[in-house]
Amino acid sequence: MSARILVVDDVEINVKLLGAKLASEYFDVLTASSGAGALRVCEAELPDLVLLDVMMPEMDGFEVCRRLKADPRTADIPVVMVTALSDAADRLRGLEAGADDFLTKPVNDIALFARVRSLVRLKRMMEEWRLREEVCGRFAALPDDYAGAAEMASPARIMLLEESRLAATRITDALAPLTSDMVHVTTVKEATEKLDSTIELVIASMGGGGDGDPLRLVSHSRASEQTRQVPILLVAEESDLPRLAKGLDLGANDYLLRPIDRNELIARVRTQIRRKRLHDRLRENYHRSLSLALTDPLTGLYNRRYLAAHLDGMMTRADESGVGPALLLFDIDRFKQVNDTYGHLAGDEVLCEIASRALHDVRSFDLVARYGGEEFLVVMPETNLQVALVVAERLRLSIAERPFAVSGTTTMLPVTVSVGVSTTLSPDDTPTELLRRADEALYAAKNNGRNRVLSWPVADSVKASRYLGMALP
Ligand code: GH3
Ligand code: MG
Ligand code: MG
Repeated sequence: MSARILVVDDVEINVKLLGAKLASEYFDVLTASSGAGALRVCEAELPDLVLLDVMMPEMDGFEVCRRLKADPRTADIPVVMVTALSDAADRLRGLEAGADDFLTKPVNDIALFARVRSLVRLKRMMEEWRLREEVCGRFAALPDDYAGAAEMASPARIMLLEESRLAATRITDALAPLTSDMVHVTTVKEATEKLDSTIELVIASMGGGGDGDPLRLVSHSRASEQTRQVPILLVAEESDLPRLAKGLDLGANDYLLRPIDRNELIARVRTQIRRKRLHDRLRENYHRSLSLALTDPLTGLYNRRYLAAHLDGMMTRADESGVGPALLLFDIDRFKQVNDTYGHLAGDEVLCEIASRALHDVRSFDLVARYGGEEFLVVMPETNLQVALVVAERLRLSIAERPFAVSGTTTMLPVTVSVGVSTTLSPDDTPTELLRRADEALYAAKNNGRNRVLSWPVADSVKASRYLGMALP
């Protein structure tokens, strides 16, 4: 999908010029000729990026940017300020207003495309995480201040790749308030060795190159899962622009030109660290809500919701392989008495211990889930009745033969379970039917004295268990 870029400028020829450049690289171009117009288009169209002229009558670019960033609906749209002057004060004002980047007129093509691409890429990534979070049903509202004060609460661990001691000292001094630990390296090799996920930002100087090309560090870090998310800020000479564009293409996040403006350095470093922390937080929320949605908090086992999806998938695969899954549905015997005698907390401990023994007893590719309050289910892929009965019996014994310890008492509790077993009967068998048969077998096991394994069909199974001498009362 091609990205949609909004070009805002009060001078028509500027709009046309930028618009034509972007269209030639297959971006979709939207336009506006005033601040108010830009806000309207942003709200209606939610573009992927805004190129915003600074000097406009009525409402200038800074104000437009501030308003976009203050509105949660538009706060995520990256804004690039386009200024006529390469004035450091102007740049700084832009960053303070929440701008993500800036370009100076006349706009250099390499800088334009590099920044547009890298910002669009970043926006897409953030959208993906937010979407996943929403899908998980626990959309965590972002702080009102999009730039995220919370994200900048503590100083960061930064790596600086810089050959020159003098330049390194200047950068280190300027960043002292933002840094908890500055890892200074002078070669790409050393940087590669020391780079890990505890580093929150890499600043890499493109000058000199030392033993190798700093762009190698960029591609190396992007190739590894561990360091893919560590932001990289390149520092370069104006004459380095083409290589800089390459670096941004490879995955560097931002750049600074020499001579380094101290305030711009601080602003860019702060922005990168905030983004990294915001991204980490979204990702963490996602994983947490995913695990909350699919596992049982008490035992850590999969829950019923996960099980349903898993079993569906497994039955479909069974059609291809021939042998379908087998189920063990087991329920603690007279569990109410445990709660009544020793209390609910002791009951919880028993549930956890059952879960842990069950996990230990089944095979690595079997799945254990907490099916209900004191009911558990083991799903065994491609398993016939004979094997299923062996696993079920092993499980029953591992619980019955070793009494359970509970805190607050020295008594060891005898605990037993009853197990119902069912296997897939035909290619058009369904999870619902499979579960129903396991439940029927479990019910029969309870009625036949508890602490036993029965399988479906029940009548045969009762006979067989007598014959095998399995745990008769
Ligand atoms: P049966 O042998 O017929 O299964 O008898 P039972 O007492 O185990 O069965 P019943 O269905 O009468 O009682 C189940 C008990 O399980 C009642 C309920 O309080 C308890 N229970 C369900 N979930 C939990 C839980 O999360 N923690 C604790 N401690 N107890 C639970
Ligand atoms: Mg203007
Ligand atoms: Mg029970």
